[in-house]
Amino acid sequence: QCPWGAPNTTSISCSLADVMSEQLAKELQLEEENAVFPEVVAVAEGPFIAGENVDTSSDLMLAQMLQMEFDREYDAQLRREEKKINGDSKVSISFENYRKVHPYDSDSSEDEVDWQDTRHDPYRADKPTTTPRKGFIGKGKDITTKHDEVVCGRKNTARMENFAPEFQVGDGIGMDLKLSNQVFNALKQHAYSEERRSARLHEKKEHSTAEKAVDPKTRLLMYKMVNSGMLETITGCISTGKESVVFHAYGGKSATEDKVIPPECAIKVFKTTLNEFKNRDKYIKDDYRFKDRFSKLNPRKIIRMWAEKEMHNLTRMQNAGIPCPQVVILKKHVLVMSFIGQDQVPAPKLKDVTLSSEDMKKAYYQVLNMMQQLYKECNLVHADLSEYNMLWHDGKVWLIDVSQSVEPNHPHGLEFLFRDCRNVSQFFQKGGVAEALNERELFNAVSGFNITADNEVDFQAEIEALEKMNEDHVQNHGKKLSMFSGDGDPPIYDE
Ligand code: ADP
Ligand code: MN
Repeated sequence: QCPWGAPNTTSISCSLADVMSEQLAKELQLEEENAVFPEVVAVAEGPFIAGENVDTSSDLMLAQMLQMEFDREYDAQLRREEKKINGDSKVSISFENYRKVHPYDSDSSEDEVDWQDTRHDPYRADKPTTTPRKGFIGKGKDITTKHDEVVCGRKNTARMENFAPEFQVGDGIGMDLKLSNQVFNALKQHAYSEERRSARLHEKKEHSTAEKAVDPKTRLLMYKMVNSGMLETITGCISTGKESVVFHAYGGKSATEDKVIPPECAIKVFKTTLNEFKNRDKYIKDDYRFKDRFSKLNPRKIIRMWAEKEMHNLTRMQNAGIPCPQVVILKKHVLVMSFIGQDQVPAPKLKDVTLSSEDMKKAYYQVLNMMQQLYKECNLVHADLSEYNMLWHDGKVWLIDVSQSVEPNHPHGLEFLFRDCRNVSQFFQKGGVAEALNERELFNAVSGFNITADNEVDFQAEIEALEKMNEDHVQNHGKKLSMFSGDGDPPIYDE
């Protein structure tokens, strides 16, 4: 007698032929999917959120369900549009390329494009070609009218960028894709109805859960980082700000051998809601590096540009040896960097630590040094420097939060620098550092200017005069020739 009892004899009625059959495999797969996503699979074209009884305990699940449902509906709609447009015509237009492939069926190459996009400091943008008012260009038989199929097609493609940020237009924008007016109008129609529906959806979601700091698509993006093994786990949220949400994660293994993922990472998610970003426009709009691109971009891309900007700025700082997070990867509006802190505990902000007077003094000289390096070696002004964006870790100060940092020749760059100096001076003077320079001395020490005004108002006026001079200089000589002898050099102000 077996001490563990008689074995359960379940007869498996399945021949080898069955096991090998593709049909069976498909059925099993379907069964499994049905078990995991019961609601979504059952409702072919149901409402976006199927009732209140859907299990929302798992964020990931919710994200997957939303994504699946969205994709399904999107594809179904496309199919209808396709049918409507083609009718009985012998020549048909295929919408195949616009179809969404479910994220789990593909390694979404779309994500990779962003990464490639961002390897260079973005100074350039190509000029858009416009059709002049009169409606045609060229001469004789080479005349091209605004109704020209090719030109029009390209224009239509470009106009897709104006669709709502949530509306997926595929990666056609990056290609020389020509959409016929008919197709474009159909897509536009779809985009608008999508936008309205999406607005309703967001309304609903806002009320449902307070905890959901990021939208399903972002969650999916983060999930993919875990899925690819780049991150081990995402443990939780460190900070929820107006413009970003920061998460902690344990690093995993990199796909490429040459890159090492830090053991602990911070994931900064730039919020994709637009209104928070409105008041930050000035930091990016007037930054010469981004100016050309800014005017032509849709909101979705502008947000990504913030993330991109932070990445570039951090890289410059890293190269200068300034203690700051190290960039791991950028995917759309999600920036992964090394975590400053240990065992999931972020390093305290300077405003939250009590330092010995010795450490305080040390910190002050370090900050002074870093500000100079930032200005001279990185050609940057932090523009939001204060005890809120300096962390105390490993016995030194680390600078973070540089998405708004600008080059000193930014039309308001020197004003930003002065504000930084004011924050820093005040903090360390209040902190009892007798050696701390006042804000005006600090400004001169960092920038190398020698503004002699002995009061705030005159000093500020001189700063603005310098900025004005710089602006005029740019107007007269063109930005690249006069302002830079190369990337990373401070601007040259001549008298
Ligand atoms: P915000 O624009 O929302 O202020 P920050 O970059 O300042 O964004 O990040 C918000 C907070 O998240 C910081 O004050 C800091 O506490 C934490 N944080 C951000 N990046 C890191 C990092 N790399 N390591 C540890 N903590 C970080
Ligand atoms: Mn901050």
